[in-house]
Amino acid sequence: MNLDWITPADRLRSLPPYVFARLDELKARAREQGLDLIDLGMGNPDGATPQPIVDAAIAALQNPANHGYPPFEGTADFRRAITDWYYRRYNVALDPDGEALPLLGSKEGLAHLAIAYINPGDLVLVPSPSYPAHFRGPLIAGGKIYPLILKPENDWLIDLKAIPDAIAQQAKILYFNYPSNPTAAVAPREFFEEIVAFAHRHEIMLVHDQAYAELAFDGYQPTSLLEIPGAKDIGVEFHTMSKTYNMAGWRVGFVVGNRHIIQGLRTLKTNLDYGIFAALQTAAQTALNLPDVYLHDVQDRYRTRRDFLIAGLAKLGWDVPKTKATMYLWVACPPGIGSTDFALSVLQQTGVVVTPGNAFGAGGEGYVRISLIADCDRLQEALDRFDKAGIRYS
Ligand SMILES: *Cc1c(COP(=O)(O)O)cnc(C)c1O
Repeated sequence: MNLDWITPADRLRSLPPYVFARLDELKARAREQGLDLIDLGMGNPDGATPQPIVDAAIAALQNPANHGYPPFEGTADFRRAITDWYYRRYNVALDPDGEALPLLGSKEGLAHLAIAYINPGDLVLVPSPSYPAHFRGPLIAGGKIYPLILKPENDWLIDLKAIPDAIAQQAKILYFNYPSNPTAAVAPREFFEEIVAFAHRHEIMLVHDQAYAELAFDGYQPTSLLEIPGAKDIGVEFHTMSKTYNMAGWRVGFVVGNRHIIQGLRTLKTNLDYGIFAALQTAAQTALNLPDVYLHDVQDRYRTRRDFLIAGLAKLGWDVPKTKATMYLWVACPPGIGSTDFALSVLQQTGVVVTPGNAFGAGGEGYVRISLIADCDRLQEALDRFDKAGIRYS
């Protein structure tokens, strides 16, 4: 039977291939060949969810009141926990009715926001490299992407002055993310002030992805967009439970900020989903109220691995700057080899999976991202294999 006529919509065909899916195929093949893979490719935390969260979920599962459809806008208790947490962390007051919306993970919300706000042809400013949902959501909506190329000499910060006025005038949304996945860069408060002024001047919605709000080290405290005066007039900020609380499989995140922007997303989602299983909202609420010792545990885990891997890579000729946040190292490819070729040759020669930087956009060419999602013994094994295979920076 000829099924050629069953073609996906243009909005799907316009997407560049999802590199993680392609890496998955290569990983499967390597596994079939009996290779012991060390997977440092995905941003998938390797730790267990803290026990009090699991216990809260189990108790909430036993309550039949949680078994029906949850409220569209999330449970009142979880929304209140979000705004209380936000106030404690950032000293910013938010209204739980309208300025906070639970999401089925933040990726869903980041992509759906573009569907809610972008018409075909609308211009969206997206850093390159960036987290894939930041440009894939707008592409699915039919938007045009204007890539903001990030550069090491600019500490991977967006160079707002390099954006032509005509482009800024046209743009409808700007996505950004500090502490950054994939570059692990952080932005000073002055940068946030500049970007808020820029967005006001050009009437651009600001979408800040704060996935790594709590994975910061050495006393560094990431800035929240909404701490900046005037930000709430034009911006929203996305948060996730996935990284901080090792809850990636639970699919819980939230967005906070401007109520009109949030309302559009909520209206769209009302037509697509019923929100998060209420028992999981109870568990997430427990997470946000955990004592800080749980945060320190997760921060210590990634900081230890960061220091270990930076020191090990230094012995192989790499000079990787000490990151202040996130669970990643952003590592330059040896001169003369591109991201994809380097990542593939590392995989084939050593069974170590790293992500080619160009998976995050053309601006990531020349780098690979290494996730700190294995303990130091496994990282040592990866370093030993690099050494044996002659993989070094030179
Ligand atoms: C991991 C990650 C997310 C995804 O979070 P979910 O809530 O699990 O969907 C979003 N943004 C960035 C930058 C991430 O690294």
